Amino acid sequence: MTTEIIWAPWRAGFIKAKPEKGCVLCRISRSMDNRKSLIVKRGKCNFIVLNKFPYTSGHLMVVTNRHIGALEKLSTIEANEHFRLTRTAAAAIRKAFKPEGLNVGMNLGRPAGAGIKDHLHTHLVPRWAGDSNFMPVIGETRINSIDIEETYEALLEAFKRIRSKT
Ligand SMILES: [Zn+2]
Repeated sequence: MTTEIIWAPWRAGFIKAKPEKGCVLCRISRSMDNRKSLIVKRGKCNFIVLNKFPYTSGHLMVVTNRHIGALEKLSTIEANEHFRLTRTAAAAIRKAFKPEGLNVGMNLGRPAGAGIKDHLHTHLVPRWAGDSNFMPVIGETRINSIDIEETYEALLEAFKRIRSKT
């Protein structure tokens, strides 16, 4: 068997577009530009970020700063803040988008549907009657009627308005 070398310059774009190495959530965590990274709020040990590939408009994730994949590895301080920020995120989504429902959850491990399995994050997905069921949309990119920047602005505003209550 011989090895063929094929000269295919049109593949250069595809090769350049391959995913960056390393953990995407760690990269977002280290970002100095919250807006560019779509971070809507930062705590001491966790942050809240708008999902770039949302299931529905306003899909947020609460993410630990540390690169850990198991709940039991969280310190009490990290865990408490994680849940506190999950509550705040739920309140902001309700204020900004008035969804009829909300899915909140973690996918731990590949068989459980985790896209990024080694870095803990809690999904908050706003839901409306008549949208797709949660399970079938996992792994798919949904097309959104609301632009991502508009969504970001709406959430920032909502976080400002609920700050005093949480
Ligand atoms: Zn990470």
